[in-house]
Amino acid sequence: MKVLVAVKRVVDYNVKVRVKSDGTGVDISNVKMSMNPFDEIAVEAAVRLKESGAVSEIIAISCGVAQCAETLRTAMAIGADRAILVESTQELQPLAVAKLLKAVVDKEQPGLVILGKQAIDDDCNQTGQMLAALCGLPQATFASALTVADGKAVVKREVDGGLETLSLDLPAVVTTDLRLNEPRYVTLPNIMKAKKKPMETFTPAGLGVDVASRLKTLGVKEPAQRSAGIKVADVATLVDKLRNEAKVI
Ligand code: AMP
Repeated sequence: MKVLVAVKRVVDYNVKVRVKSDGTGVDISNVKMSMNPFDEIAVEAAVRLKESGAVSEIIAISCGVAQCAETLRTAMAIGADRAILVESTQELQPLAVAKLLKAVVDKEQPGLVILGKQAIDDDCNQTGQMLAALCGLPQATFASALTVADGKAVVKREVDGGLETLSLDLPAVVTTDLRLNEPRYVTLPNIMKAKKKPMETFTPAGLGVDVASRLKTLGVKEPAQRSAGIKVADVATLVDKLRNEAKVI
């Protein structure tokens, strides 16, 4: 069985992003870019399924600028067998990405598609759900455990007050939550091996997909500055301030 894993190139999670002076977005020039952390978990999940014998081939896919090839090389260093880059310099919103992924799902016919639950740059949490809807496939979002056997995927999800277990008929779409696994470190020999693994490049037009934006960003603002805190002398002063200044008790 083939697994398709979607990996997005995003601003590294350690970078403190700055809003552009014209308020049109976040400044990503000269900042470190990395694989979206939930997508690393998705690749790791696919590799573990391959190691358990449930999966025979892992295909990593990324949509975006040419540098997404680096993200795909990382996915192949973790253990993906080959990669697909859908190259575009246009802004790709979740619906556009979901349509591109659907076009590749139709071509490759994977038994399972694994995505991150959300990209840490746009925090949309939409692409997996949209892909499942477009393909008419069962979906399990926010997976914290995943097993595959006998044509089914069993997914545990953390929900309020406990764990929900879902059984999905394959093919299916699964999105990963933080606790699904801890991705392995990429080793130098595997980085070298990844350089030789195959990568195909497509364009949205070549896949017959219209990636025009459906949403317009009106503005992006820094969060409001918090005013400095104060130290109070004793509990009585604290209670007095909470009651008479903050008026919260
Ligand atoms: P989002 O809906 O934008 O929060 O993204 C959810 C997940 O969809 C991500 O964790 C990725 O697995 C996948 N995804 C989103 N955008 C892209 C992209 N440009 N290329 C590849 N995968 C993507």
